[in-house]
Amino acid sequence: MNHFKRYLLISTALLSILVLLGMQVHWLLYSYRIEEALFSKSVRIALNQSIAELSKDEGLCQSMQNSISCDSSFRASRNKTPHVWKNLDSQIRDELARYDIDLAYDLAIFKGKDTLKISNLDQMVGSSCYRLSLDNVLEMSDTEIGVVFPNRYNFFLHRMGMMFLGSVLLILIIGFSFILVIRFYLKEVSLSKNIKEMVNNLAHEFRTPISSISLAAKMIQQSPQALDNPKIRRYSETILEENKRLQRQSDHILQLAAIEQDNLAYRFEPLELATILEEAIRSVEFLVEEKEGTIKKDYEEGSFIIQGDHNELVHVLMNLLVNSCKYSPDKLDIGVFLKRSKEGIQVEITDKGMGIAPGERKRIFEKYYRISSGNEHNTKGFGIGLYYVREVLKAHHATIAVESEIGKGSRFILHFPKIEEQ
Ligand code: ADP
Repeated sequence: MNHFKRYLLISTALLSILVLLGMQVHWLLYSYRIEEALFSKSVRIALNQSIAELSKDEGLCQSMQNSISCDSSFRASRNKTPHVWKNLDSQIRDELARYDIDLAYDLAIFKGKDTLKISNLDQMVGSSCYRLSLDNVLEMSDTEIGVVFPNRYNFFLHRMGMMFLGSVLLILIIGFSFILVIRFYLKEVSLSKNIKEMVNNLAHEFRTPISSISLAAKMIQQSPQALDNPKIRRYSETILEENKRLQRQSDHILQLAAIEQDNLAYRFEPLELATILEEAIRSVEFLVEEKEGTIKKDYEEGSFIIQGDHNELVHVLMNLLVNSCKYSPDKLDIGVFLKRSKEGIQVEITDKGMGIAPGERKRIFEKYYRISSGNEHNTKGFGIGLYYVREVLKAHHATIAVESEIGKGSRFILHFPKIEEQ
């Protein structure tokens, strides 16, 4: 994964967490507002019902009326006739209890600008005071009853307790998991970087011994002893071939590393595709011979000039040919076709090997992907060949597609654009 994708992933995850957090906070506030509205509604209904009950008791209404108009302490905001208001207080308490509101409150009677405190609590003003007219009940004008709940915020929080705790816990868990995931991810990234570096270094280190072995094997092959002794010739040929295989694999690793670091330096030049194909075929001839297979070639007349990197394109075609050899367990029958198409030039590499299941056809071009279902083949590989092929072709504005049938073989179709389109 490149830097851009990595940052995109982390910032998307961070943004999602922030959005989730915002939603949680919004949801909590919303629940709080609903709780508050429900509470206000219950208090108003309880007050209405209490007053309706009181209005039935004419004697009590009369006493309250007298208390308001006669009680000299009314102006001093002190209640000298608490016994008159006890009934009202207990009526309200009972009604509130029916709505599960078991909360301390202040009770007062307002007459114009005067306040008569009935309970001993304070703070009778403010927006959180629930007021209701007593004019009809007491046959007096401008009289109101007021109730204030000083602890109502705690009460809401207490009611929302589980919800609130649950949300906070969820937010904490999400945040914690996010930090953990990021830490693991960064650790993995650095680990995989180290492994890649190590593998690249190894591949580099292999280069010198590989070329020394190749040189030594060639010298053995050309020595007078080898000319006289077929066994020595055969052994040295095997050394050379196996050495070539080793070289291919280490080249693969280095090419992959270069592709990953985006520093595969292409040297584009006009190339004849038929020549490139011939070169690739020559490099796999020994593999075909080993399996007693055949390569059938069919090139259309004329020249097939494209703009490309010579070495990389030879490797691309070699990869496809080597795959055809590797994945043809029984009869090796390879076809190489070169023709013109509407879009440009078409190269086809076919085999009559094991074929690829429809579900796997797209995935085989992914990095490190190897078909493992059923473990039909035990051919060794890194799963990077076709990924490399696709990336190099992309750089050449070319495409690759595969048609295949299980048990019957595969056809890899490469499209190169006409030279003027590049
Ligand atoms: P590798 O050959 O190292 O496994 P590749 O990227 O070259 O990696 O191929 C990926 C997978 O695609 C292989 O593991 C193989 O299963 C499948 N594959 C590639 N070419 C062929 C083919 N010609 N016929 C059948 N299967 C193929």
